[in-house]
Amino acid sequence: MVVAQVSPPLAVDSGVRFLEEVSAKTAGVSRLEMCIQCGTCGGSCPSADDMDHTPRMLFAMIRAGMKEQALRSNTPWMCVSCYHCVVRCPQGVHIADVMYTLKGMAEQEKSYRDSTPPGFARVFVGQVETFGRSWELGLTARHYLRHFILRLPRMTPMAAGLFFRGRIGILPHRIRQRKQLHAILSRAEELEKVS
Ligand code: SF4
Ligand code: SF4
Repeated sequence: MVVAQVSPPLAVDSGVRFLEEVSAKTAGVSRLEMCIQCGTCGGSCPSADDMDHTPRMLFAMIRAGMKEQALRSNTPWMCVSCYHCVVRCPQGVHIADVMYTLKGMAEQEKSYRDSTPPGFARVFVGQVETFGRSWELGLTARHYLRHFILRLPRMTPMAAGLFFRGRIGILPHRIRQRKQLHAILSRAEELEKVS
């Protein structure tokens, strides 16, 4: 008996490819393919109300090969890495790590709907590379000056309160041995190029 070779539908094929791409780019093991669409992650997420799609929906989109829509979703950018979803996921999916992967892919492909969150992330990363840690006052001031200048006056009393309680500093703090940090970052960049 001759068995006809049936090609998988295009969407399934591209879905598998996108899921594999996301998994391969995620540090460690993503376990994304283990998602059973239970929705526990979205129900645990403090940022869910601000997200275009809950994490569960986003993972369904990845599986369906909806790469452009997934990368343009604001969901990864709204993730605050609280790890609530990670500890509650019955399948052990490394949800927060997948969010980082999607942010990286969106940044690489310049595929985002709103440039504000990637802009914030870029300034944050630049500070960490320069000082070895974030500088809250500089980060916030730069972000608001660039994107929300009219809201700046409303932020001033809060900034003053944080300053007088010693929670933020006027000048950035620098870690010691920044050369070691730069060596680690350079090595990470080299590894990323060959992977
Ligand atoms: S909690 Fe885990 S298994 Fe459930 S939808 Fe979210 S990622 Fe999938
Ligand atoms: S780690 Fe991100 S996606 Fe998960 S619950 Fe926290 S904010 Fe939501």
